[in-house]
Amino acid sequence: MDFRFSEKEELLRAKVRKFAEDKLAPLAVEADESDEVSWEIVKLMAEHELFKLTVPEQYGGIGMKAMTNCILREELSRISVHADVYYAEDVLCTYPISVYGTEEQKRRYLPAFASGQHIGSFALTEPDAGSDVGNLKATAVPDGDSYVLNGSKCFASVGPFAQTYLTFAKTDPGAGSKGISAFIVEKGTPGFEGKQMKLMGPHPIGEMTFTDCRLPKENLLGKEGKGLEVALSSLDNARMGVGASAVGMARRAFEEAVAYSRKRVAFGKPISEFQSTQFKLADMALDIDAAALLVYRAAWMKDEIGGRVTKESSMAKLYATEMAWRVVDQALQLHGGYGVVRGMPVEKLYRAVRQPRLYEGTTEIQKVVIARHILNS
Ligand SMILES: Cc1cc2nc3c(=O)[nH]c(=O)nc-3n(C[C@H](O)[C@H](O)[C@H](O)COP(=O)(O)OP(=O)(O)OC[C@H]3O[C@@H](n4cnc5c(N)ncnc54)[C@H](O)[C@@H]3O)c2cc1C
Repeated sequence: MDFRFSEKEELLRAKVRKFAEDKLAPLAVEADESDEVSWEIVKLMAEHELFKLTVPEQYGGIGMKAMTNCILREELSRISVHADVYYAEDVLCTYPISVYGTEEQKRRYLPAFASGQHIGSFALTEPDAGSDVGNLKATAVPDGDSYVLNGSKCFASVGPFAQTYLTFAKTDPGAGSKGISAFIVEKGTPGFEGKQMKLMGPHPIGEMTFTDCRLPKENLLGKEGKGLEVALSSLDNARMGVGASAVGMARRAFEEAVAYSRKRVAFGKPISEFQSTQFKLADMALDIDAAALLVYRAAWMKDEIGGRVTKESSMAKLYATEMAWRVVDQALQLHGGYGVVRGMPVEKLYRAVRQPRLYEGTTEIQKVVIARHILNS
């Protein structure tokens, strides 16, 4: 076993950290309080070639390594939860297009993602089908050279701002989850509309509706009836990234807590000198390390062994998102009343950190996935 990152990975982390602290941080103050996409941040990320890390080299990218993805998400979310969301939704589109797309689809969409010209949105969830995704109701009926889509999606991050969407609809409603197919939809397609949703923590997210929306047959991604496989393999790849993002949020909260506890004086001494504070900090550090190791293991397995890493990715996502919730809460507690003052880093993190326990499969669904793997192996 080798717990060191490669030189290339260390360099990438240093580069992204510098980018995030110098360039992103000043914009994130406002952007992370908005429910809209910050195009200024997207432009900056594109200029620094970050989106290229979501696309294979032959389509204008720099490659698509799971470990790189995790390092990047950890560093972005430490400074800007919004920047991390833009990056994450791109991966949820570029990964399945790279794996399941036709040559023509890869050439049409991947370079646009790599250059930051397009940002993506993964629209799977429906008003009556979240965890129970096999029960989705949207339909795609073949008609000549097209499919006609009807139905609605909700909680699509970055929708309605994205240019390219990956969505899922039933081409064979009688076949249950085996009747689901995946489609690429471009913004502006007649019959496809989006509306913003407003959440507790600022997040660009929307509801999308398809009303007799005609898509060319070339927009089918993968084979008809294989949409659930496209969705689940994309989530396998992405869930460890949600874990990495949670580690980034927790690291930031921890850094804030350490700094604050050193300078805040109570009963004549810095609060860092109380043993209860020290124990809190020790527990936080331990929890962050445990989560980071689960994330890096999943990423290492994806890069070095390949194939599906369903159980390991679910474990990383579950543990890291629950961990981040605990750590941010404890960091806020160490700030006393100042912890809930609007605009304090821990206050912002507290609002943001609740959401990753829900998306890309709730904590309960990760347990269902892990248990299924244990019992079926
Ligand atoms: C901030 C945010 C961003 C999101 N981004 C996206 C996105 O980009 N694309 C997208 O498609 N979706 C997205 N979602 C949707 C998200 O993936 C769903 O909200 C999630 O999968 C849960 O589905 P649901 O809301 O319908 O809850 P439900 O499925 O109705 O679940 C309700 C409760 O029941 C529990 N439950 C359900 N089934 C079981 C079971 N079998 N065993 C035990 N407990 C169970 C759940 O854990 C939960 O506690 C996002 C959500 C949020 C909050």
